[in-house]
Amino acid sequence: MKLSQYFVPTLREDPSDAQIISHRLMLRAGMIYQTCNGIYTWLPLGLRVLSKVEKIVAEEQDNAGCCRVLMPTIQPAKLWQESGRYDDYGKEMLRIRDRHDREMLYGPTHEEVITDVMRQFLKSYKQLPLNIYQISWKFRDEIRPRFGVMRGREFLMKDGYSFDVTKEDAVVAYKKVVLSYLKTFQRMGLKAIPISANSGAIGGNLSHEFHIMADTGESEVFYDCEYDTLHSDRIKFEDIERIYSAADEKHDASTCPVPAERLKVARGIEVGHVFHFGTKYSRSMGLSVIGSNGEPFYPEMGSYGIGVSRLVAAIIEANHDKNGIIWPTSVAPFLIGIMTTNWQDAQMAARAEELYHEMLKRGVDVLYDDRDERAGVKFADMDLVGIPYQIVVGAKSAEGMFEWKDRRTDERVYLTSEEVLNRVDKETEFLAK
Ligand code: ATP
Ligand code: MG
Repeated sequence: MKLSQYFVPTLREDPSDAQIISHRLMLRAGMIYQTCNGIYTWLPLGLRVLSKVEKIVAEEQDNAGCCRVLMPTIQPAKLWQESGRYDDYGKEMLRIRDRHDREMLYGPTHEEVITDVMRQFLKSYKQLPLNIYQISWKFRDEIRPRFGVMRGREFLMKDGYSFDVTKEDAVVAYKKVVLSYLKTFQRMGLKAIPISANSGAIGGNLSHEFHIMADTGESEVFYDCEYDTLHSDRIKFEDIERIYSAADEKHDASTCPVPAERLKVARGIEVGHVFHFGTKYSRSMGLSVIGSNGEPFYPEMGSYGIGVSRLVAAIIEANHDKNGIIWPTSVAPFLIGIMTTNWQDAQMAARAEELYHEMLKRGVDVLYDDRDERAGVKFADMDLVGIPYQIVVGAKSAEGMFEWKDRRTDERVYLTSEEVLNRVDKETEFLAK
């Protein structure tokens, strides 16, 4: 992509209404625009990151054996009246009437819709286990939308639903999702800690939230400091059962088994939430299936959420410095940035153009800043939008040398164009793994 033909409306000044760093940086980097309170337009750069996050989430769901579907955003109230949640859900639900005066709603979650689908198609225990997921926009009329896409009213969620014959099978499904979530977040350069939670409004008996620790997190969480020493790769479900953690509403100082010196009290950003809730929906909505003994039974269900749009903000909270965003390469809008130190120098421009085309040929996400702008402006913008590797075509390019800058370490080295392309190949190979 050439920046002169692209649309990245960056801001020099900090927007006054943004309280946390990720919100400020998303606005300043031209990633999002607030259309109205808690409702955002994703601009090109923001959309590229959102799509990469979505892709990682989908890949790990697929790896865990889940099947992707797409349910409607608008739902009939009738389904929620059947499950008994229509009146309880309260003002967070956006209620709508269609032209025939039928009650509809913009889905805040999809337990009812998927249970309705499954009662149509599930007939026999032989069709189980199943885990069905989608990635779609939700609407919740949050009382206090804030912090940009961190707590929006319209937001992108991965929601999944499992169906099993027995409680034991359902717990197996639950554990599989928990481990796949750790992998998902790790692929985005995030360490998420599973926090044992009450399952709240959805009801049930097994629940974990996944938190990214950050001072700006909205939740207070409690956990044994052993989690800080464990790499996400190595966390097993036995560890999660063994090592203490608790969400605010669950923690009780008088019964906490962890000695004070080992107990971490921290702020967390909730990026995922999983529940096992048994037969609540299958029973209330009449999803019954014939078992191996010929008798009908209600399948055991669980639901599993990831805040896809919230993750974009959480990644920034965990990856930035005074100059801007530092994207982990797996979710960077562009892996490579190219610029010249003097936009009026035709030879520099020709060399930059050549590198740019080499990278396009390789299918690399590359952003070439070809604008008629001072070098200082270009350096600042590349750092602000967080391009992981930046190639500066300057005076030394006449001798075939290009500056390679690492955004995270600020390390700079001079490389030949061949060395530059070798590094790019190595990076893309690593990303493909
Ligand atoms: P919260 O406590 O933050 O309101 P929740 O418990 O209501 O979250 P769930 O119903 O479990 O959330 O939804 C699954 C995931 O969707 C959450 O873990 C979170 O990452 C994300 N999410 C929930 N509400 C919002 C929102 N208003 N804006 C952005 N993401 C959200
Ligand atoms: Mg909520």
